[in-house]
Amino acid sequence: MDVVMGYLDTFVFDSVYSKAALLTSTEVLPRDNIVRQSLSLFVFIYGYIVAFYYVTAGVSYRFIYDKKLELHPKFLPRQRFLEMELAARALPQITLMTVPWILGELRGYSMVYKDWNQYGYPYLLVSAVMFILFTDFFIYWVHRLEHHPMVYAKCHKMHHKWIVSTPYASHAFHPLDGYLQSIPYHMAVFVFPMHEYVYLALFAFVNVWSVMIHDGEYISNNPVINGAAHHTVHHLYFNYNYGQFTTLFDRVFNTFRQPTQEIYDRSRRNSKLVHDAQSSSIDTALPTLESKKLI
Ligand SMILES: [Zn+2]
Ligand SMILES: [Zn+2]
Repeated sequence: MDVVMGYLDTFVFDSVYSKAALLTSTEVLPRDNIVRQSLSLFVFIYGYIVAFYYVTAGVSYRFIYDKKLELHPKFLPRQRFLEMELAARALPQITLMTVPWILGELRGYSMVYKDWNQYGYPYLLVSAVMFILFTDFFIYWVHRLEHHPMVYAKCHKMHHKWIVSTPYASHAFHPLDGYLQSIPYHMAVFVFPMHEYVYLALFAFVNVWSVMIHDGEYISNNPVINGAAHHTVHHLYFNYNYGQFTTLFDRVFNTFRQPTQEIYDRSRRNSKLVHDAQSSSIDTALPTLESKKLI
């Protein structure tokens, strides 16, 4: 993150803080001042995540999303805009809660490193795999615990308003829900070393992935990858497929549910017959699911 902040300081923030100091007749805050770093990080992370969300979800909605899904009886009127509205409300608060993690990394408390040779080139790949498995495991458990009746209604239910999601559902959460599910990403670099560029690339990847698992384009029928079809099963039937990237922990902890074959078939999955069958199974299961002890 210090690379990014270095550029931002040079091209944006140095002049902003100089002008602010002039206007308030105070000393210019130095680059390593913790208040300046916190403010700059808030502005950068918020700008980044908002731009990333609207651009990625927008492109996905325009070019990838199967819009016939909007004919599903469980698709809400104006749902895409409701998803955007919820994300817009959540993102400032998620950013605020995220700043201390990135600040810790910026001030050198994490295990992020700069020298490509420090752990050797094979470790770059090993650390990327570790990052996926580490975050997948913890997100699995955060997500599964969020389905506990004691917290579900207060925190995670908002994300399940979207029974048939669009890519804009990817960041449409209660702020606490979005933050809790992001903690493993921040935690990883305090647990094992990662090269700064590998970490930045994976950070972008996880945001794209969140959009992809909500895009309704069920290309991957891979038994290991937790794709859009698996996450659709989660939105349709709630207490299955809590994983983010792989089906591994759902299989280990017995919450895996294989998407039905028709879900991979564009013409069959959008038939009235399939939509109606899904709707009636949700109507039957929902009242018990929302009150049932799920773990
Ligand atoms: Zn859930
Ligand atoms: Zn979701």
